[in-house]
Amino acid sequence: MKVAIIGPPGVGKSTQATRLGRALPYYNPRLSSGELVRNEIQADTTLGGKMREYYERGEKVPDEVILSLVLPRLAHSGGWILDNFPANVAQGRALDDYFGEDDPVGLNHVILLEGPTEEDLAERIVSGRRTSRATGEVYHLEYAPPPAPEENLDPGPFEQRADDTEEATRAHFAAYEKEADALKEYYEAKGLLSVVDARKPIGEVTAEILEVLGHPENPQP
Ligand code: ADP
Repeated sequence: MKVAIIGPPGVGKSTQATRLGRALPYYNPRLSSGELVRNEIQADTTLGGKMREYYERGEKVPDEVILSLVLPRLAHSGGWILDNFPANVAQGRALDDYFGEDDPVGLNHVILLEGPTEEDLAERIVSGRRTSRATGEVYHLEYAPPPAPEENLDPGPFEQRADDTEEATRAHFAAYEKEADALKEYYEAKGLLSVVDARKPIGEVTAEILEVLGHPENPQP
């Protein structure tokens, strides 16, 4: 199963990709292009240094950098859940070229999460989103609260991302809007696109995605 999850900032891509990875543990590691970028920056690699400036300004990291991070990680894997990749048609084409357009080992499904207003999305991101430094897991103070210490589930700390500000979030929305329609059309034309309503509670969205994917968590013998 090779799935890409796309949609606007704050719509729940990371949340759903993580939950799908857990529902499909045998063959589906989640791969987040945003997390790959953040890890390079945090590790202060040469590439990370170059990306830091774009990232902190809320600007797009150039496609070739994203591609150099993501594509090599797909080559030897039987399945993946891509979180926010491809983010535009150029990246989609590069993914097709990497595997060969009709290669059966390429992408099988693209899930577009849609529905919440921009105001709702900004609220999810700016006032509520917290990410665990220990596990990378994404939480929301109200809708998906981080576990309490006595639960021994995730030690945290639960931090707000440096770019989860009003200003950077507006820039991320603007960047998404520029690419969104073309990307949607690209995968619609290939017959790979399914749109899932992301206004519902987190668990219901996961259930709907699993339905769209044909319940791969219950493989037929
Ligand atoms: P993205 O990866 O698309 O930017 P995230 O998965 O980081 O989005 O989700 C953004 C924020 O919204 C997080 O704090 C997350 O816990 C919360 N969230 C995700 N999905 C939902 C939902 N269906 N309802 C309410 N809050 C949600």
